[in-house]
Amino acid sequence: MNASRPHALVLFVCVLLLTAFIDGFTAPVLASDPASATALVIHGGAGTIVKGQMTPELEEEYRLELEEALLAGQAILQSGGSSLDAVVAVIKILEDSPLFNAGKGAVFTAEGRNEMDAAIMDGATGKAGAVAFVTRVKNPITAARAVMDHTEHVMLAGAGADTFAVAQGLELAEAEYFHTDRRWKQLQEAQEKENTTTTGSLSHDTRKPYLGTVGALALDQQGRLAAATSTGGMTNKRFGRIGDTPIIGAGTWADASCAVSATGHGEYFIRFTVASDICARARYLGISVESAAQEVIFDVLPAAGGTGGVITLDDKGQISMPFNTEGMYRGFVHSDGDPTIQIYK
Ligand code: ASP
Repeated sequence: MNASRPHALVLFVCVLLLTAFIDGFTAPVLASDPASATALVIHGGAGTIVKGQMTPELEEEYRLELEEALLAGQAILQSGGSSLDAVVAVIKILEDSPLFNAGKGAVFTAEGRNEMDAAIMDGATGKAGAVAFVTRVKNPITAARAVMDHTEHVMLAGAGADTFAVAQGLELAEAEYFHTDRRWKQLQEAQEKENTTTTGSLSHDTRKPYLGTVGALALDQQGRLAAATSTGGMTNKRFGRIGDTPIIGAGTWADASCAVSATGHGEYFIRFTVASDICARARYLGISVESAAQEVIFDVLPAAGGTGGVITLDDKGQISMPFNTEGMYRGFVHSDGDPTIQIYK
């Protein structure tokens, strides 16, 4: 009887210590309530955006469009919606705008067509969907999402992808819908330039000023990351050229702790698997996603001659938006904060 008293005391002290220990770990987590923090970051393409060549009116149009997209995505995230739904809503708004090189404002191929690429990735499940050179889907990002949600595949291309979109009942558009005079003029300029130089039609030089690929990354209240990117590709492209945008790991990537959407000279982003490399560097080197993105955008790509930029988002809501071009349309919003829009350096 007497011998059991010290044991009971030890047990009592142990329980007290254990309770304090557990409290010490759970209290700060509950206090900061990370589950309700959301983040959204978007881009509208990187490239030559010279302030002197931009009218105040046009700049305002870009800012308003980017803000509208951010607010739409923020509303979904704030009401408890998923990061996947948020990035799709954002991209659809930008695809419907003639300002960006995606959907309505897609650039023209050498044959005068609009061939669009898009991809989406769910960081929580590792699932992904993409479409390449689709010509009939009004919002290519919806086709990418349908590939992810309703097929066992990751990427569908060309006529098959268009047929899939029809079968899925997605909204379609005629070729005229994608015709904008601005993009048509850019194609004429590119082809004139091509005829007077020896650079060849796939040269990035002929499309440099025609930026406008769109991308979005979101972190929802459940801590799930998602990434989406959509583009018309490069002006004057031919031979069924596909860029980095629909290639998972090159232009679009999301995992449990890191999401990336890219814009720039796609061939370089494919060769250096830019989007997934940024997340891999962060994880394996134990550095921030922001530092990893800076290494790739300011060291790796320029060393090879690659131009462009990325947006990144981690599972803590930390964003970064590095680019090695003159400008990148970009913006972000955290939880119920106000959106921030930036264009130049
Ligand atoms: N990365 C896109 C492509 O190469 C174009 C861009 O972002 O401007 O198709």
